[in-house]
Amino acid sequence: MSATAYPDAAPSLSRPELSVVVPVHDEADNLPLLVERLKPILDAAVASWEIVCIDDGSRDATLAVLRRLHAQDPRVNAISFSRNFGKEIAIAAGLDHARGDAVVIMDADLQHPPEVIPLFLQKWREGYLNVYGQRTDRDGESQLKRNFAKAFYRLFARFGETELPEGAGDFRLLDRRVVEALRALPERARFSKGLYAWVGFPGTGVPFAVAERMHGQTKFRYRKLFGFAFDGLSSFSTVPLKIATWLGMLIAFAAALTGLFFLVRTLLFGTDLPGFPSLIVSIMFFSGIQLISLGLIGEYVGRIFAEVKRRPLYLVGERIGYRKDESVHPRGDALPPLIR
Ligand code: UDP
Ligand code: MG
Repeated sequence: MSATAYPDAAPSLSRPELSVVVPVHDEADNLPLLVERLKPILDAAVASWEIVCIDDGSRDATLAVLRRLHAQDPRVNAISFSRNFGKEIAIAAGLDHARGDAVVIMDADLQHPPEVIPLFLQKWREGYLNVYGQRTDRDGESQLKRNFAKAFYRLFARFGETELPEGAGDFRLLDRRVVEALRALPERARFSKGLYAWVGFPGTGVPFAVAERMHGQTKFRYRKLFGFAFDGLSSFSTVPLKIATWLGMLIAFAAALTGLFFLVRTLLFGTDLPGFPSLIVSIMFFSGIQLISLGLIGEYVGRIFAEVKRRPLYLVGERIGYRKDESVHPRGDALPPLIR
């Protein structure tokens, strides 16, 4: 599709060199600061740019702030979800709506320093299509969180089907080709760190130091992070299922040996009714194992269920800076990057 397909397209709708995708959830205080810091950097770094904020069901003034920012500068666009769908899905929506030749993904809370973007662009111009920020430290995080992160990456490296570069997160630049590849992946459970690695393409890291969060608090508490870690592992590995099988086989084997032992003992020495406690213990033990295995299988079945329902990935409530007649993306009631 060429730009002439929409001759009356507003200037903001032509294809910019760079899109900055920002997933946003309750960041009304941070957004103006973010845009302020981004603008001069983007102006200096590229010929044309746009910012695509995905308002992920914010309950504060985020949407009003986004409307105001768009009114002040039409290069700041926004998609507002009908409710909170989660950061991963917000990123997917951002990639659906970004029109740039390259797309940078970054957080709204200024933990990802905008000053790194020119370094990303430099690598991109050198020919790298998947340029990821690599955090040099996790100073802003508690020791516990750091240890969990380390354990997760170790597990993933061992059992996952793709390799995750160390310390790489969502702060990155993707070439249009990578964006289209990611958009072509149909899954609903989107573990983007894994997906970025799975699509491949020449990539390289740019080290950066994570800054402190500007305003507000992190939305990723431990419970959510654990869920996220399991999502990641289960969508890139079937090893947990195999663990259930191995464990079951091991215990069945042990049970057979125990049975044999009791049989021989009874034949040699006759029965003595005591042995009841061991019976109870073994029943409880095996029930536990069975429940664990069933639960694991259930987790996967649940994920299969979520995939086969084929629900739209997200629902859009409002689009700021997009034409009404822009067509509908097959994945949801969203639109594709229209003007190319
Ligand atoms: N975010 C989002 N949807 C959510 C939670 C968070 O879009 O349900 C956004 C949030 O506004 C921020 C980014 O994701 O721009 C990272 O969130 P946060 O700073 O809370 O996470 P952390 O930096 O602690 O990993
Ligand atoms: Mg943050």
